[in-house]
Amino acid sequence: MTDKYMSILQRDQRTKGIEFKVDPAEDHAFPKLSIKLREEVVTMDLGENDFSPAEITGQHLSPTEWRTLMERDDTVMIDARNQYEWELGHFKGALLPPVQNFRELPDWVRCHRAQLEGKKILTYCTGGIRCEKFSGFLIREGFEEVFQLAGGIVSYGRDPDVRGERFAGKCYVFDERIGIEVNRTGDASIISRCSHCGTSCDRYVNCSWSRCNRQYFCCETCEDDAPCYCSRICGEAAVLSFAAQAKGSD
Ligand SMILES: [Zn+2]
Ligand SMILES: [Zn+2]
Repeated sequence: MTDKYMSILQRDQRTKGIEFKVDPAEDHAFPKLSIKLREEVVTMDLGENDFSPAEITGQHLSPTEWRTLMERDDTVMIDARNQYEWELGHFKGALLPPVQNFRELPDWVRCHRAQLEGKKILTYCTGGIRCEKFSGFLIREGFEEVFQLAGGIVSYGRDPDVRGERFAGKCYVFDERIGIEVNRTGDASIISRCSHCGTSCDRYVNCSWSRCNRQYFCCETCEDDAPCYCSRICGEAAVLSFAAQAKGSD
């Protein structure tokens, strides 16, 4: 079925030539199809120093090449995703720059130049899109050996040879599935815990305080027990808001 739809997209003049990232799933992963035209999928806000990853980007590594290189001592592996993606799963030994936004990565790199210099830099993300830009940026900054995982974590998990080896936890995805399996070597693990009871848990739910709605880890038992809030502050805010509503309707 996937092949049929992909061949339609490859023939259509509007989508012809685009490299699609395909990950077949059992159920509908997206409730509805939405296509938006964007100047750039991810931006680093480089202003007049901006560049196109079509012209400058890190060397692509196949999953097998990636596995070999990441075990070496002279490499530093950088996760180019967000913290909530990292918390669900990441490569063992990877580094997550403590930034809130992709746009803050350039500053982080400039501040940590000493730690990165002379190393082989490996960058990875979900499907290998962010890294096209991020690895290109690293080259522009003067780093010489910059590599990116072709097809990202998703392709790495599907590769029949590496089968997601050395990936801990699940890979966060931006659709109904939220998390997908990566490590199929029998060494798969859960690296996150329920925020309420501390049990091993990789189940993301949204905070019940409507003005927060932040995703956090919560096990089924805790969710069944009571409305779940990501923090005590959210719980208290919700109680106060209910009390104010009840008073208003008196
Ligand atoms: Zn729990
Ligand atoms: Zn909250």
